[in-house]
This record gives sequence, structure tokens and C-alpha cells, in this order.
Amino acid sequence: CGIVGYVGHRGAQDVVVEGLRRLEYRGYDSAGIALVADGRLATEKRAGKLANLEKAIADDALPPTTVGMGHTRWATHGAPNDVNAHPHTGATRRVALVHNGIIENFAELRAELEAGDHHLVSETDTEVAAQLLELEVLAGADLTSAMLALVRRLEGAFTLVAVDALDPSRVVAARRNSPLVVGVGEGENFLGSDVAAFIEHTREAMELGQDQVVTITRDSVDVRNFDGTPSDGRRYHVDWDLSA
Ligand code: GLU
Repeated sequence: CGIVGYVGHRGAQDVVVEGLRRLEYRGYDSAGIALVADGRLATEKRAGKLANLEKAIADDALPPTTVGMGHTRWATHGAPNDVNAHPHTGATRRVALVHNGIIENFAELRAELEAGDHHLVSETDTEVAAQLLELEVLAGADLTSAMLALVRRLEGAFTLVAVDALDPSRVVAARRNSPLVVGVGEGENFLGSDVAAFIEHTREAMELGQDQVVTITRDSVDVRNFDGTPSDGRRYHVDWDLSA
């Protein structure tokens, strides 16, 4: 339902949790966060309000880092519980993925994974995508190439955001029939399901077109069409009055 992604110079945990709070107005049933630190994923996810996630983080501190992402879930496939909450990871916990929307062909992709002895732990359509993405990365693709390979296999409506434990330089996202906005900063960049996710930090936004993949690093924003050809997002200035 709500998505935040970040890479830059600030503490990613605070940026992500604040962003999720700004997106709370959309309604949700669970919340989660994934950070990349020291070559590993640090994740936490909880059914219920953001306060439940914040308590879990307070009880079990996450490592300091400047790259991460978060999600508030509105369940469509699988009950609203801790296991089905996002992020979802691949079996080796190399890659984490959050998702808004519905992957229509998840049942056949799930059957294919299970036939290949890949066990799934949740009931979600999302975990299928997380596992497939990780398999691409384990086969040698960088996260952007892996995302391009993944989205060509998916049907439905989705915004996806992913991180790779072994590549703290980037956060990669994709969209089809579901919103995704880039927040363009200085020495930092943001991703959001809407501008509320990063409005406290930057007013410079970039809207992505249909069927595009975007890779953010601290100082670059690279947009590709699903066929891999380079593209550009539409830049605009957000002039909301935050005090309103
Ligand atoms: N279909 C996914 C799920 O049920 C994502 C739902 C959402 O948009 O939050 O977990």
C-alpha cells in the first residue's frame, strides 16, 4: 500500500519510518522495513500499526546504515500477519522486495518455484517475485538487470522496490499500473508510492512512466523501459504546504 526507498547520507531507518508514517493516511494492516548493512539484510515486519513495528525495532535495534526501504501492506493474498508482511526475501536472504498491487500469474510462478525445490514461507504473491528476483541475482545479474528480467515475467499491477545485501550502492524499483515517484535530493535519492514518502526531505520529484524500472544511487537516477532501453522520468517541483 505505502512504499518508501532511500539511499543517501542520512540514517535510513529514520527516513523510512518517517516516510511510512506520512503514508499512514492510506490505511494498511502491517508494516515492515529492510536495511542493508555490512553485506547483510536487516529486516523487521509486524502485523498491525506502525507502532508495532517501531516497538520491534526498539526491542531489537537495527544496524546503522544509509540504504533501506519500507512498506505498509494492504493484504490481497494471504492473511494480515507477521509472516505475510513485507519485505519478503529470497531463500538465502540476499535480496529483499516490497510490493504494492497484485501479481496475477503468481500461482503458476509459485508452482514453478516449488517444482524447482524452492520453498516459500508466506502465502503472498509478493514472495514469489522476491524469490525469482534473488535467483536472477544469484545467477550473476546486478539488481537492475535482475529486476528487468523479473518484470518481464510478471502479469498484473505492481510497484516493486528491492535491495541487494551485497550492493549497498543502489535501490531498484519498477512499476506497472501502480504509482511510483522518485524524490531527487543532493547526495541522496528517495522512492515513494507517493510524494508524501519523502516530502520532508526534498521537493524535487520525478514521475515514472508506465512499465519502467528505476535505479537510484546516492547521486544518480537511472530510468529504463522494461525492454532495457534508457528513458527519462518527468521532473517536477512539489509545492504542497506541509503545515496544512
Ligand atoms: N499483494 C500483496 C500482498 O497481499 C501486496 C498488497 C499491497 O498492495 O499492500 O501482500
